[in-house]
Amino acid sequence: MSRIRFMSMVPPPALRWNEVPVEARELYILKGYRPLSVGVVKSLASAFALHNETLNIWTHALPLIYFAWWTILDLGDARSLQAPGSHHPLYAYIIGVLTLFAVSTGAHLLMSVSWRWRQVCFMLDYAAISFYGVATARAYYHYTGNTEHSTKWYLLATSAAALAATFACCWTRVSQPKSAHYIRTLSFFLPFAFASLPALSRLYVDAYFRLRFLKHVFLLVCGAAVKVSKVPERFAPGTFDIFGHSHQVFHVLVFLGIREQFWIVMDDVKQVESSSSSSPISAFGPLAVLAALMLITLAFFSARGDTPKKNK
Ligand SMILES: [Zn+2]
Repeated sequence: MSRIRFMSMVPPPALRWNEVPVEARELYILKGYRPLSVGVVKSLASAFALHNETLNIWTHALPLIYFAWWTILDLGDARSLQAPGSHHPLYAYIIGVLTLFAVSTGAHLLMSVSWRWRQVCFMLDYAAISFYGVATARAYYHYTGNTEHSTKWYLLATSAAALAATFACCWTRVSQPKSAHYIRTLSFFLPFAFASLPALSRLYVDAYFRLRFLKHVFLLVCGAAVKVSKVPERFAPGTFDIFGHSHQVFHVLVFLGIREQFWIVMDDVKQVESSSSSSPISAFGPLAVLAALMLITLAFFSARGDTPKKNK
């Protein structure tokens, strides 16, 4: 490779907080910002450079590999134990988990391509969280022994909550209200709460489920608390710019929390005695419709507010 071609791939040096637009600054993070608008190639190459997004990328890229790996290893086992149709909700759940981690990794990696890409990356990230919530709801509800008829109404309500959450998060991205952080955290909680409803009935009768589910909830709540409170960087601004800031801790806690849930669902499909089957349309149709509506929502918001404010 010629030297000129190699140099065109090297990401530019990271910047200080006062060298990036106001909206791109993170509270208590003073340095390590990637320049905006560096293009696709340099953004991809930045995965291997040190800046304040490096560990945000890898703390979700490695879990993506973990879940993909265990899906491949464990799915054969699960398939051999139950009727074919009973696996569809499991597949829907796995699609939700892999989408969440793949979109998050891609968003953190590519948000430096341009300002518009940055906005779209954030919005895709919000949508993927809500999408994952509905995929979880699909599996939880099915393996709790509910009928396909009641699943329909429950999924409809969960999907409506997920869409509302995505809409609210995208709106905060464009309008930048002071309470944006709280609105987004609440919006993430909404699909999660809906998705967890079917699980509540099992808390009293299934000790294995109770332990894993409470660990799952505890880890996600800790993740949300760390994200909102901006701990540890609020106590030592500038110290955790590259390693150890709250978004990285949040990512790790989200991975550990979802890992507990992943094994709940993987074990469910093997252990539920006569799990009723579900047609592919019933398992994947609602998710496909939701994904389409989310993309329309994203297209609507991404057409607005596509330039940053001037530096202050
Ligand atoms: Zn993130």
